[in-house]
This record gives sequence, C-alpha cells and structure tokens, in this order.
Amino acid sequence: MELACLDLEGVLIPEIWIAFAEKTGIEELKATTRDIPDYDVLMTQRLKLLDQHGYGLPQIQEVIGELDPLPGASDFLDWLRERFQVVILSDTFYEFAMPLMAKLGYPALLCHKLEVNEEGRITDYLLRQRDPKRQSVRAFQLLNYRVIAVGDSYNDTTMLGQAEAGILFHAPRNVIEEFPQFPAVHTFDELKAEFLKASAIHN
Ligand SMILES: [Mg+2]
Repeated sequence: MELACLDLEGVLIPEIWIAFAEKTGIEELKATTRDIPDYDVLMTQRLKLLDQHGYGLPQIQEVIGELDPLPGASDFLDWLRERFQVVILSDTFYEFAMPLMAKLGYPALLCHKLEVNEEGRITDYLLRQRDPKRQSVRAFQLLNYRVIAVGDSYNDTTMLGQAEAGILFHAPRNVIEEFPQFPAVHTFDELKAEFLKASAIHN
C-alpha cells in the first residue's frame, strides 16, 4: 500500500506569511526562519505584528481567502488522489490553511493549531509535536504504508529522508545542492512522472 505525503506551502499553495505580507503591506511579516532561526521568536514576532496592525483571525482568514492554490495544483491533486491515498503534512496552522483547503477539496491535512480568544485575537499557537512531518511518515510506515513524500524546503528534508521515496518540488537551488540524494523537479507534469517512477505499483 502506498501513501503520498505532500508539503503544502510552496508545493500546492503560496507561502501564506509572504502572501499575507504582500496583501496587507506589513513588510516585517515577510521574515522567515532564514532571517530569525528560532521559530518561537519568529512566531512571537508575527503574532505581535498581527496584533499591532489589528488583525484578528477573521481578518486574517479574509485575506487568506483571497489567495488561490498555485496554478495546476488542484488538477495535480485530483490526479494524485485517483492513484494514491494522499495526506498533506504542513507546518502551517489549521486556521490559516482552511480557506485554501476549501479550494483544494479538503484533502486530509496534519498541521498545527492556533489559540484564539472570543474576540478573534490569536493568543498562542500549539505545535502538534517535534519534527512532525517525519514522525507522521514513521507512523504511516508502522501501518504498513510505503510513503512517497514531496516538499520544497529544509523543514521537509527529514520527511523526505524517512520516506521510501523523497522528491523535491519547487525547491530553491541551495536546498537542491545540499540534498542531491532527492530528485528535484519543477513542474506538476515532472512531479507526476516522479511519482510513477517512485511507485512500487508501476515498477
Ligand atoms: Mg513548503
């Protein structure tokens, strides 16, 4: 039995924080773990900025609701779901991803959660577990699934390494060069071909 595990941001949808920063003009929200390596420091700053600019969850979801999946992502997902069981493994939060998941037909999504008060203000965030993508792949393997995983960045590489087959998609050059063991492709047609190549069923 085979399972496809896909990263979300950069693979099927735009980077949410960057797209949100562009839509709202809040430049400081473009900072990523490349600028601030400590994730807790980064998230605390993001939540503070949202607060300062008066963005509670409803306003954030409204902005995210204007975003679209990447061109071709929806058709690709339909193609994949006909052939594999598909689970999205993401480091985003359910509350942010939902407006976009609606546009993808609500595939199974494992990610993190926000804490929101009655006024819609985000007060905290809850990470599901450490190294969640790799742990998810491990858990699926314990259920006797053979996993083909796809991601675009550093936070995906432990998942790609744990999976029976790992594929880099839309990855920047530095990631491709640092992880030459994974095939790297840039279009959904190429990604389909990699899936067929990696699949035991088609070999
Ligand atoms: Mg990503």
